[in-house]
Amino acid sequence: KYTNKHSIQNKLWTDTIMTHVFHRHPKQSLPTAVAGEGITLIDQNGKRYIDASGGAAVSCLGHSHPEVIAAIHQQIDAVAYAHTSFFTNEPAEQLAQFLAQRAPGDLDYVYFVSGGSEAIEAALKLARQYFVEKQQPSRRLFIARRQSYHGNTLGALAIGGNAWRRAPFLPLLTEAHHVSPCYPYRDQGADESDHAYATRLADELEQKILQLGPENVAAFVAETVVGATAGVLVPVPGYLQAIRRVCDQYGVLLILDEVMCGMGRTGHLFACAEDEVTPDILTIAKGLGAGYQPIGAMLASRRIYQTLVDGSGFFQHGHTYMGHATACAAALAVQQVIERDQLLHNVRVRGQQLRQGLHQTLSAHPNVGDIRGRGLMVGIELVADKQSKTPLDHHAKTHTQLRRVAMDKGLLMYPMGGTVDGVHGDHILLAPPFICTAQDIDHIVELVSATIFEVLPFTHQ
Ligand code: PLP
Repeated sequence: KYTNKHSIQNKLWTDTIMTHVFHRHPKQSLPTAVAGEGITLIDQNGKRYIDASGGAAVSCLGHSHPEVIAAIHQQIDAVAYAHTSFFTNEPAEQLAQFLAQRAPGDLDYVYFVSGGSEAIEAALKLARQYFVEKQQPSRRLFIARRQSYHGNTLGALAIGGNAWRRAPFLPLLTEAHHVSPCYPYRDQGADESDHAYATRLADELEQKILQLGPENVAAFVAETVVGATAGVLVPVPGYLQAIRRVCDQYGVLLILDEVMCGMGRTGHLFACAEDEVTPDILTIAKGLGAGYQPIGAMLASRRIYQTLVDGSGFFQHGHTYMGHATACAAALAVQQVIERDQLLHNVRVRGQQLRQGLHQTLSAHPNVGDIRGRGLMVGIELVADKQSKTPLDHHAKTHTQLRRVAMDKGLLMYPMGGTVDGVHGDHILLAPPFICTAQDIDHIVELVSATIFEVLPFTHQ
């Protein structure tokens, strides 16, 4: 474990002080994070919180890792930033090479941005421009899945699968249509095999493509493993391969969003490698820079890149901070540490331990409908009734209570009031740092269970 040598400063931004930060939830008063040490965050009062969600699946190396800090210092000392219209930079070149060498298939070209939504916007625009270059401009529609989350910018909102997030911003510029997610807990029939379920979902996608006209569809977009909005949905074996076949049949691009599940979160650097599927475009962020710097990326296949090179010769898109040298240096250091310390092995072992521990302590609880996940990406779905799987009444705002009680206990977990086909449901996302020890996981299980039992009391064991 590494420690933070900086003294905890006593800056107290309590609610008595007027804040000028445009907080998303202005009525909430938040503690001030003043230090981080390994898997722990510390507030202005010295209170410690185990970061069992890594923020929102971001801080995969924990906090204050000395080698990442050193890499950032070194880059700032050399040159913090140089605009990519004029220069390339060493960390961007090295990081792109690192990722391209490890990515599945021919995802050989890496476009660096500052976060997940930007990566998705770049992916959508690249898909559109690819078809323009190929003289097929009518291919402008996207198909995505209900209950997905792809970010909060307008294009990402259009493809995102929660209608209530889009509602205040309609009409949106990007036209997207939605099909069912792969949601075995709610949707797979009791007697339905994984193969039959995957085939049913692939058929649904095919019908949607035919209904829209294949000549009008640019891409199908999906999270390889769905994140917070549905409490972690792991695809059944064969699902992504079936989807890939349908896309290929109709010349539709496959965009996999691994902003949350990528970069080792599931135990593989690229989650889709486990499903043996290669998309045409893949997005990553969060764990890429592990929160040390804001960074995301889009990886494109050689075929798509070459089409642009041979066509107009450039990608009609860009941001001021793309390929930011310091952000790339931080991400490169993060990825090198993960690989050198073989942390993905730890992700797989600790992930197993976490799910088993949660099953042991929580599966008898009448409101715990499902515990699922891959690697250290674990979801708990809460229900009002286990038999009918009726979601909790969203007016009770259980997720807000869970967050508060967990923080009181010194635990950070990520509860969401998601939606189940328009009906609200509550989930918890756990995404602890890859450096967690067996004791850390036991402690997290204990705190998560204590939190759930306090908010949803249950005494008849
Ligand atoms: N895609 C997925 C799957 C995500 O989970 C998120 C964020 O949670 C995003 C995209 C958007 O990323 P960001 O919040 O960095 O813009």
